[in-house]
Amino acid sequence: MRVFIDLMWFFKQEKKAYISGILILAVVAVLHLIPPKIVGYIVDLIKENELTKGTLIKWIIVLIVTALAMYVLRYYWRIMIFGSSLKLARILRNRLFSYFTNMSSSFYQQKRVGDLMAHATNDLQAIQGTAGSGVLTFVDSLLTGGFVVIAMAATISWKLTLIALIPMPFMAILTNYYGSLLHKKFHKAQEAFSSLNDKTQESINGIKVIKTFGQEKEDIESFRAQSADIVKKNVAVAKIDSLFDPTISIVIGLSFFLSIVFGAKYVISNELTIGQLISFTTYLGLLIWPMLAFGSLFNILERGRASYERVSNLLSEPKEILDRPNAINTIPTGSIEYKVKSFHYPNETKPVLEDIHFQLKQGETLGIVGKTGAGKTTLIKLLLREFEGINGTILFGNNRIYEYRIDRLRESIGYVPQDHFLFSSTVKENIAFSDPLIDQTFIEKAAKIAHIHDDILQFTDGYETIVGEKGVSLSGGQKQRISIARALLKDPEVLILDDSLSAVDAKTEEAILKSLKEERSGKTTIITAHRLSAIKHANKIIVLENGKIIESGKHDVLMENDGWYKAMFVSQQLEELVELGGK
Ligand code: ADP
Repeated sequence: MRVFIDLMWFFKQEKKAYISGILILAVVAVLHLIPPKIVGYIVDLIKENELTKGTLIKWIIVLIVTALAMYVLRYYWRIMIFGSSLKLARILRNRLFSYFTNMSSSFYQQKRVGDLMAHATNDLQAIQGTAGSGVLTFVDSLLTGGFVVIAMAATISWKLTLIALIPMPFMAILTNYYGSLLHKKFHKAQEAFSSLNDKTQESINGIKVIKTFGQEKEDIESFRAQSADIVKKNVAVAKIDSLFDPTISIVIGLSFFLSIVFGAKYVISNELTIGQLISFTTYLGLLIWPMLAFGSLFNILERGRASYERVSNLLSEPKEILDRPNAINTIPTGSIEYKVKSFHYPNETKPVLEDIHFQLKQGETLGIVGKTGAGKTTLIKLLLREFEGINGTILFGNNRIYEYRIDRLRESIGYVPQDHFLFSSTVKENIAFSDPLIDQTFIEKAAKIAHIHDDILQFTDGYETIVGEKGVSLSGGQKQRISIARALLKDPEVLILDDSLSAVDAKTEEAILKSLKEERSGKTTIITAHRLSAIKHANKIIVLENGKIIESGKHDVLMENDGWYKAMFVSQQLEELVELGGK
């Protein structure tokens, strides 16, 4: 029941709908009592030979009116109660979504996407169930059950009522017991189902790898095994589920048996009329549903409570990266200076960056190179404030980056991440992501600088072509260039290309770099790359190894050093020569 207290804020908010729904339910519960009474009354009239056509028609009309009233009222309580529960799901769904969009990268590093999805789907459904069927079952079983028992005891015979109710507690106990067994087995079946889901998703995503390695048979085999496991676990659920009906039939049968045996005795001794006995047994039938419902109520509430707890715990987790009080509300500009002694990722102890000290003047281009895993992306993420907890600081303009409002800081940066992502919408919407209402000329300008404009014009619908799973498939280089155009659209103070030219051929790379230089004079650019040609012309190049700067300077200076940079540059030049020679 605690979950009802937890949800009290919502019931209060929707009190009109809930109170009217419950009142209507109460009226329906009372209306339920009428038909059995009328049937009993008519039987008594038949027995006494007193039934006239007129009375029969009168009672039939009453029956029809009652049925119609119940029909209409049931419609309304459903709307009131189930409608409200949908609102609760909507409120929580919106809260979760805005929470998800506000959380930082380290949050997503610690959580599994599958779990977050489960919170937004299964858990919300369970909570909605509590506020809908939960409330309904609770109120209705109490009202219907209560009214029927009162009607039996007060208007027919309290003695017979007590006798008939004797087996009922057994039913409640048994169904509750089966219910908890069912819950456990159901949980296992659900787990098996979700791991099959994971498996299917992974196999479909990785189908190319599976095929290239000729692992189809093994994959099908492992799918079969999991599938068989699901069947086994669901059969276990079905076995318990199948116990419900026979158990209930036995208990109800027992109740009917007792009522008939003792009822007949009372009829013979004239304590009851036949009509009353018939009404009584019909009432007994009406008790089946409330009894069953009460059994299942615990399941609904239990699931709702667990889900609500999970969702509330999640929502109460603090955002790690917040604006400081009185954060500066302007878009930062100016030079950038790293004064980072060390940085390690949350949950890790080994630093991934150490002694990163350099300055980049406004309008300069910085090239960052080094092996995979050297720390290039991490260095950039610190500027974006995706992670905090640096030992040291980073200055942007005259202030430390923590002093700006995060949205302001990020407004000044156009970031093209390594794992660029395009949405399943049009090319135009993908480029104009940060400002959907922007004029087409700006979109085209960004596309031209990123050297993707001509490609786009070749697509069937030009800028309106849908990309992604449902649309045209793009080459890696085209995706990269669209992502670059997206970052360029807002003409950012700082443009960051994180290995964003890797899939673009050398000639296009050169052309893009040239346009960037022309169009972005006075603005800062940071480029990380494997191909050194991408950063050759940078004002400053830093070479990272194991999180430390091992070389830095301009291209010419680095070429004079006999270090990693020179060796790499020479080897890449040779590669290029070989490629050209091969043509
Ligand atoms: P690069 O961009 O040079 O390839 P990264 O900055 O991506 O290098 O990675 C630097 C190091 O930090 C690597 O050892 C990598 O495994 C580790 N690393 C990267 N991202 C995370 C993360 N989110 N959590 C923990 N370690 C990470």
